[in-house]
Amino acid sequence: MKKAPGSKAGEAGIECLSTIRKMGDGRMKPIAKLIFISAAILLLISSIAYDLLGKKDGDKQPPAEQNNPDEIIIVPETGSELTIKLYNHWSKKLIEMPIEEYLIGVVAGEMPASFEIEALKAQAVAARTLVVHQLRAYGGKGCSQVKGADVCSSFAHCQEWLPEDRMRKNWGSKFEQNYERIKQAVMETAGEIMTYNNKPIEVLYHSTSNGRTEEASEVFSSSLPYYKSVESIGEEDAPMFEGSVTYTNQEFADIFYSKYKVRLNPDNLKSQIKVNSYTESGRIKEITVGGFKLKGTEFRLLYKLNSTDITFIFNKNSITMKTKGFGHGVGMSQVGADRMAKRGYNYIDILKHYYLGVEINHY
Ligand SMILES: [Zn+2]
Repeated sequence: MKKAPGSKAGEAGIECLSTIRKMGDGRMKPIAKLIFISAAILLLISSIAYDLLGKKDGDKQPPAEQNNPDEIIIVPETGSELTIKLYNHWSKKLIEMPIEEYLIGVVAGEMPASFEIEALKAQAVAARTLVVHQLRAYGGKGCSQVKGADVCSSFAHCQEWLPEDRMRKNWGSKFEQNYERIKQAVMETAGEIMTYNNKPIEVLYHSTSNGRTEEASEVFSSSLPYYKSVESIGEEDAPMFEGSVTYTNQEFADIFYSKYKVRLNPDNLKSQIKVNSYTESGRIKEITVGGFKLKGTEFRLLYKLNSTDITFIFNKNSITMKTKGFGHGVGMSQVGADRMAKRGYNYIDILKHYYLGVEINHY
């Protein structure tokens, strides 16, 4: 049988070293020769290994261990035994499954399979952290909408999860290829979650940023130490980077009245809309409409806008609101993660960029 060159060299190296240890001082010449051969073989093996590692991690970043010497990353030898209870909203059934299997369906639903593998790995760790944080067996609260479930499959509530038949439908002939790619991202990070003070963090992420992420307290009631506004660059070419919604002046006024019972004059909206303040990331923090103050997030929800980074265009009979980014803007931008991976960053770099001060640990 033909052996791979690598294994042949490896075996030869081991044999030489053990032979040298058995020999006495009287045979210096052959020993020197053997040492020379062994050293050459070892050098060859280590240079091959270095090449492989270099390709895997990208050449723009030093290995993560150098950046974070205290970090502990434990990759289990076999898959996880941990199971979760998932409410499958497609079949309306509560199902129990191994966490890593569940995560394949989450990454498949939450991120395009065509994204860089390091971005898919970052998504897998973020999704795993979210579900571990909710695990009732670990003291989590589970899904607040379905009794007995750790998590539900609805993107509007916990996080999206796709059953296999949905993946097949979405991907068609690319099913096998995409499935293997996502499975790789999940298994290469098996068991890994983000922790802060040794506890799984509360995970938030979004589709596309406007160039910066948002501080959590600007969107949600409480602030969390790992959610500060950070730069997220290179997303301008993403399909959801720019959005636009147009209403007639009358529609705009009617929508506002239906929610806040404040009547606007549809003939002069411009004078009745005033942005009071912006957040650090350039999104609207507070806005006054017809003398009524509301949060940018409330305004976004009311007019079904992609984000709170809004530019108003007042036409004669209509109002257009152009937005940048898609989602609340807090935590990892999924598109930003892909762009970071394209620039050579690995999944740990990506997660530590968007989630400040977290550690990657085994649950
Ligand atoms: Zn839920």
